[in-house]
Amino acid sequence: MQAQQIIDELQARMARYESVEQDLRNIRYRLDAQIDMFTRIHAYGQMAFRESGVGLYGLISEGVVDIFQLEVGAVFALDFAGGELVCLGSCGLEDQAVTLPLPDDRRLTFWANAKSSPICGQAGGQEDVWAHLRLEKWIFIPLFDNDRRLLGVLLGGISQANQGYYDIVMGDIQSSFMVYGQQMNGIINNMQALHATREAGQAKSRFLANLSHEIRTPMNAIIGMTQIACRSHEMEEIMRCIGQIDRSSHHMLGLINDVLDISKVEEGKLSLGRAPFDLTKMMESMLNNIHPLTESKRQQLDVKYHHVAKTSFLGDEMRLMQVLINLASNAVKFTPEGGQVHVSVDQLKQDEGKALMRFSVRDTGIGIAQDMQERIFQPFEQVDNSSSRRFGGTGLGLAISQRIVELMGGHIHLESQLNEGSRFFFSIWLDIDPNQQPDEPEAAASPNPASYDFCGKKVLVVDDVDINREIVHTFLEDAGIQIADAENGREALDIFAASGQGEFQVILMDMQMPVMDGCASTEAIRALPRADAGSVTILAMTANVFKEDVERALASGMDGHIGKPIDYDGLMRELARAFASQEQKGV
Ligand code: ADP
Repeated sequence: MQAQQIIDELQARMARYESVEQDLRNIRYRLDAQIDMFTRIHAYGQMAFRESGVGLYGLISEGVVDIFQLEVGAVFALDFAGGELVCLGSCGLEDQAVTLPLPDDRRLTFWANAKSSPICGQAGGQEDVWAHLRLEKWIFIPLFDNDRRLLGVLLGGISQANQGYYDIVMGDIQSSFMVYGQQMNGIINNMQALHATREAGQAKSRFLANLSHEIRTPMNAIIGMTQIACRSHEMEEIMRCIGQIDRSSHHMLGLINDVLDISKVEEGKLSLGRAPFDLTKMMESMLNNIHPLTESKRQQLDVKYHHVAKTSFLGDEMRLMQVLINLASNAVKFTPEGGQVHVSVDQLKQDEGKALMRFSVRDTGIGIAQDMQERIFQPFEQVDNSSSRRFGGTGLGLAISQRIVELMGGHIHLESQLNEGSRFFFSIWLDIDPNQQPDEPEAAASPNPASYDFCGKKVLVVDDVDINREIVHTFLEDAGIQIADAENGREALDIFAASGQGEFQVILMDMQMPVMDGCASTEAIRALPRADAGSVTILAMTANVFKEDVERALASGMDGHIGKPIDYDGLMRELARAFASQEQKGV
């Protein structure tokens, strides 16, 4: 090879090397520029996130960064031409805008809707925007608003035109984004959890405000009516006051029971009992509960039975009635004067030993808007949350009812039209009682106290609160029962130990007392070395009414549990049962 040729060849190679070097320099420069820009975006993002709660990240491609905010179809684009962050196109409705402060006094605004975007306008719609930008690789980054609520998602992309650079920078950027993505995911989860907790918290504080109002209303009636009764000399007026006090206190008891039930629902501890019951009798008692309400609103109330062949079932009568009372009293409450409430019971099917029953409560009331129809089954939710609520209530009834029906294997459905009325209905399988339910003699439920005659019986009443003992005294004395009193478990133990063999047939034992509580006292009585220590009936009579309390009482050796406030007929029935079993045992 001639020298000249060699020189030419070397020069050509040098030129090529130079161009390669130039290429490499270019690439490095661009890479640096991209990394620099990426760092700036990251810095903007962090700063913006710190200052306004909004995160901003993007992916760069050849000086242009395409960032899209997506929320229900929202699209957003930014231009990073010349390394400067410039708003290229913005989309949507101004009233949904979120503004981001940037370091150099400029503000960046995001809109949460894509309909009227200049870009969308040009490109003819959202889908065309994607096609137009020919994005290959996308990255989704969540966006938060100033309340740190998840607002939408930023999408950074690399278009096909920049594939070459993509290969070089993507590794770095991707791994960075993966880190951000993971961080963001964590943040999203926290934010969403926080949001849910906050929403639940708001519903609960609304509920507490409502509950306070709901409790104060009957309380006001009770205190007010008591004061009127104390000052009055007219028997008729006193009786009217007492009637009102009775209604208000039962209303309050209902509220307390609902609060207890919802806490059981939330802890998953609500459970069902199983005993024989008569469906028609249950429906009658349900109607007796509702009648006064419909009468006061001059509403029509009826119950219809369709194809009901069996009426003796096994199940939790009280819980089923609770659901029906809740649905029916809601129907009355949310139906104006003169409206109608129809209850129906249909036997849909009968299989071996069981029947599929559908219960339905329909009203001609105010109805429920579509968007609220699921929510009202959540605890504490009511259609009207305003402070000027037209209707009282706590928003617990339906949540409790739904849970009860679910435990029974069904689900409450709702059909409703605003201003036309609602229909709540559910179907459950009920086990048919193979033995005709024997009518409990005491369940003749005569409201007349004289019908209980327990002369010759003696009961030990153990309670540290004077008024509680006084109430029980009055009830028992009416039935001719002899009574002894103890103010705590220790005293009860001493009295029983000193009594004659078989002198007491029943001990009514409070649970929570000073000196010695009811369970400890029961254990000590049962351990006494005398024949009647094991056979005397000990019944808890207590305001501790949770399932665990009942279990604790039974585990300590008690025979049964009576919850406070004491229901006269309930107490008398328990006593009748206890005396009868004592007689059977020949005690
Ligand atoms: P409460 O009646 O104590 O508010 P519920 O859980 O029983 O609680 O009901 C929740 C809400 O559902 C009510 O506050 C009311 O807004 C709506 N609702 C329930 N039943 C009816 C009905 N029959 N008609 C119209 N709205 C109803």
